[in-house]
Amino acid sequence: MTLKELTAHIAAEFQKHYGRAPRWIVAAPGRVNVIGEHTDYNDGFVLPMAIERYAIMAADAPLPGSVSAQSKINIFDAHFDETATIDISAPVTKGTPKWSNYIRGVLCGFQNRGVKIPALDVAFMSTVPLGGGLSSSAALEVCTATLIEAATGKAIDPIEKALLAQKAEHDFAGVPCGIMDQFISALGREGHLLLLDCRTRKTELVPMSDPSVALLVINTNVKHELSGGEYAERRAQCEEAAAKLGVKSLRDVTAEQLEQGKGKLSELVFRRARHVIGEIERTVHAAEGIRQSNWPTVGQFMYASHAALRDDYEVSCAELDAVVEIAEDIGYQGGIYGCRMTGGGFGGCCVALVKASAVDSISKTIAAEYKKKTGIDATIFSSRPASGATILKS
Ligand code: ADP
Ligand code: MG
Repeated sequence: MTLKELTAHIAAEFQKHYGRAPRWIVAAPGRVNVIGEHTDYNDGFVLPMAIERYAIMAADAPLPGSVSAQSKINIFDAHFDETATIDISAPVTKGTPKWSNYIRGVLCGFQNRGVKIPALDVAFMSTVPLGGGLSSSAALEVCTATLIEAATGKAIDPIEKALLAQKAEHDFAGVPCGIMDQFISALGREGHLLLLDCRTRKTELVPMSDPSVALLVINTNVKHELSGGEYAERRAQCEEAAAKLGVKSLRDVTAEQLEQGKGKLSELVFRRARHVIGEIERTVHAAEGIRQSNWPTVGQFMYASHAALRDDYEVSCAELDAVVEIAEDIGYQGGIYGCRMTGGGFGGCCVALVKASAVDSISKTIAAEYKKKTGIDATIFSSRPASGATILKS
């Protein structure tokens, strides 16, 4: 569904459920990280793109009448046909259903800023796949924050908004996420990627206006169960490398310095650091390649990123590798510039930079070859860089 279709759809859902038209409609996108993996907790760069998949909310003040209606937010989840009711007359706390906690966390964040939350009737849905690594959670948080902005008529600084949404995810969902997902959902702009410096939180919109290319998201539809310590172990190895090299974080180390300091590190920790340091460089260079519409170069950085995640950082898996191998086989001639795993790893999605005119044929080939290799059906869709959070009706 396009955003326009989705807007009409949620308005109709609101009308059906509440018997009147909504006053406000807001949306916030999911995201895919084009390059810059496992760099965020090393003070490095990431380069996410907002995708044309959104959390969307239609809302109105409750009808006058009942007193209790004036102290509540009702959120009807149109997809799951389930309603969450949140009491806003007191500090908002965690509660049920579980998904309402992302919303509760954001409401609490506004209360902490001294904002009086208005009572609302809300209809909600999302076209961001849930739990697929495309950040349906950040889309939901940023969408909620945007609704409060619309309903109070007061916008807040988009960076503060992203940080408020991140805090909601930390405190109310118990997920200690970085800043990328909420930043791109709040600050994305149509036709642009966002280069984000995770050390300084400085952001830069990178134009990707050439209509001849698109990003393809390929969900392997596998998620390998981990013993649990993998991410913590990678982080600890990065910290160890930085400490032994005498710096605060791996952001402060160049590839040459790493080579010079090789003797101080175990072979394993050296490889972990080599991925991170290389990836930070690749991300900055890829952003430059995008600015110049130099697609073959950007594609090479994506392949190099995947190789390092697979061989040095060891967070890939057979299915992700299979997708990248298929992409390499299709190759430049077939319209693919580059492909890599995206997200934390051990399953989830790949992202490929492709010729827009070849999206359909590439999607078909990848789906067929992936099925042949793994026996699994992949889910594939393409997206151009979408806009960040928007008020569609106010
Ligand atoms: P991801 O952000 O990669 O999609 P998460 O596990 O971080 O995965 O977030 C998924 C969770 O977000 C869901 O389990 C649910 O609680 C919540 N969520 C997101 N979108 C919706 C929705 N449309 N309806 C209900 N819950 C949602
Ligand atoms: Mg999430």
